[in-house]
Amino acid sequence: MSDYPARAVVDLDAISANVRTLRDLASPAAVMAVVKADAYGHGLVPSARAALAGGATWLGVAQATEALELRAAGVQSRILTWLYAPGAPLDRLVAADVDVSVPAGWALLEVVEAARATGRTARIHVKVDTGLGRGGALPRDLDTLLDAALAAQAEGAVSVVGVWSHLAWADAPDHPTVLAQAQVFDDAVRLAERKGARLEVRHLANSAATLTNPAMHYDLVRPGLAVYGLTPVPQLGGPDRYGLVPAMRLEAELVLAKLVPAGHGVSYGHVYTTPTQTVLGVVGLGYADGIPRHASGTPERAGAPMQVGGRRVGIAGRVCMDQLVVDLGPDADDVAGDRVVLFGSGADGEPTAEDWAEAAGTISYEIVARLGARVPRVHVGGPVGDGGPAAARGGAA
Ligand SMILES: *Cc1c(COP(=O)(O)O)cnc(C)c1O
Repeated sequence: MSDYPARAVVDLDAISANVRTLRDLASPAAVMAVVKADAYGHGLVPSARAALAGGATWLGVAQATEALELRAAGVQSRILTWLYAPGAPLDRLVAADVDVSVPAGWALLEVVEAARATGRTARIHVKVDTGLGRGGALPRDLDTLLDAALAAQAEGAVSVVGVWSHLAWADAPDHPTVLAQAQVFDDAVRLAERKGARLEVRHLANSAATLTNPAMHYDLVRPGLAVYGLTPVPQLGGPDRYGLVPAMRLEAELVLAKLVPAGHGVSYGHVYTTPTQTVLGVVGLGYADGIPRHASGTPERAGAPMQVGGRRVGIAGRVCMDQLVVDLGPDADDVAGDRVVLFGSGADGEPTAEDWAEAAGTISYEIVARLGARVPRVHVGGPVGDGGPAAARGGAA
């Protein structure tokens, strides 16, 4: 592991266990593990396999390329994909038996064309904008869209298997928009069924609604963040409140440690000056690796925390492109090669992705999902038959 001075160690057994927990919580609803964005930075294919081993029966991805990558790796579960522009490779998705979201008439036309080109029936989920104001058809356009979809179904070009939507305020379960969106959703489902759709799945819940709002579960829940052991509702408690275990540990070796005098400026712009004689450590991770520059440390504002030799230390000065500096303290005896844990599950007293989110003024989603492609992912544990249960090198994702 010394060919790169940092890595994200991903515990695939934690992912499986988290999905098992979510499945028990959501049952009888099924679980679609959302593995978009390289499984929130955890590595697409190994994470997807671990989620399936934990009992997910569906996988969800934003991009067509992500769905095709899963199929190319031999993943056979149902997959739904939902973000594409005109001209996307829908024929390849349909040929690969990937379910496709349909948010508008142009998308339906392209899916029908792809179905004719491949000679297969495309499985579609009609996306309704129940109030998020992002993807999906507005209720006023739904009548026309459903008529066209069911006409295409009568021809055998498509099968309308799902109606789905997404919540704006799922992380505030009592927010009035949640109930209002559910009512619009129920109307959309009724309309589709009245027109003759025989839906396999109605789905609305992300992690927050899966964890906090059983009324939103319907037939299928779509957790993403919780699969990786993080909580979208930190105000209600940590991951352990829901029996979740963070799967990623970001660690590095110090590439340098040195004693400097008091009053020494540190990193670009000298926004941090050593208050006393102290030992500075250098870590080979920077903003090109997804370390937020907002996690920089000044005497006024503590930088993001990390753990060295069982102690908590903080980023000193500005985060650079490839590296950052940490103030190890005046009595530190750390040397180059010693291990630094930036964040992990917290089980050994290390900071968590949530701690980093707070330090950088963002959410834990961003801390893990933005982790750069340059950082090796090292997968440990995981389903037998997936390269064996021993540590498997994930490579740069
Ligand atoms: C990302 C995403 C999810 C998962 O959201 P989490 O908050 O991570 O659980 C579910 N549905 C859609 C449409 C998404 O884009």
